[in-house]
Amino acid sequence: MSQPPFKRILLKLSGEVLMGNQQFGIDPEFVAELAREVKAAKDTGLEICLVIGGGNIFRGMAGAAKGMDRAQADYMGMLATVMNALAMQNALEQQGVHTRVQSAIEMDQVCEPVIRRRAERHLEKGRVVIFAAGVGSPYFTTDSGAALRAAEMKCDALFKGTSVDGVYDSDPKTNPEAKRYDTVDYNTVLAEDLKVMDASAVALCRDNKIPIVVFSIREKGNLARVLKGEGVQTIVRGEG
Ligand code: UDP
Repeated sequence: MSQPPFKRILLKLSGEVLMGNQQFGIDPEFVAELAREVKAAKDTGLEICLVIGGGNIFRGMAGAAKGMDRAQADYMGMLATVMNALAMQNALEQQGVHTRVQSAIEMDQVCEPVIRRRAERHLEKGRVVIFAAGVGSPYFTTDSGAALRAAEMKCDALFKGTSVDGVYDSDPKTNPEAKRYDTVDYNTVLAEDLKVMDASAVALCRDNKIPIVVFSIREKGNLARVLKGEGVQTIVRGEG
């Protein structure tokens, strides 16, 4: 299908893709690989906002399941996203891509606070802006952070690069009959609780008419393919 040309996108990468083939943490070689994909996309003239999760290091829900206070654990998760953002900044800058990290939790020594107008200026100057710490509040995820930044930065689409190649009608890991959608509307995702992004992120994209493109970032060159509307992906958008 033909897609409108994008001028500005938000790319959300799950923390787990930074692990490469490890079970935990950050694999610098794989982060460099991801940075090459981002650079290639940027070299086509796109303005890129990046949001990176923290699940490769810490998830609040996992901490809470082991008896931690949920909000405390969520703050740890947000700090994990800052580590990932710094790792990605390092990899991008090593490839000559200018970047700025803006964090929803202020930490002046390592990055800027989130300031929308300043982020606009960075994009105009050709910098990639990496938004860290999600929305800055517990009980949210970086998916919601990605939807929020996509809306406030007026991105044309939210690309969610993860380890699955789209949205399925049931879990493909447990159901061999699971079918992948090429396109699916926001309300079906919400009503059927399809595993794309959390509901608040999907609703925010729906209300702001931001299409969500779900694709696997694990395959080399896939970001470039999906940006051209090629390759395996699922597009979540409004009906009609
Ligand atoms: N988190 C949060 N508020 C936010 C964003 C993230 O509390 O706005 C915490 C939450 O504990 C979450 C963790 O940070 O589990 C890591 O983010 P996420 O699970 O979204 O990472 P991903 O699954 O994309 O790797």
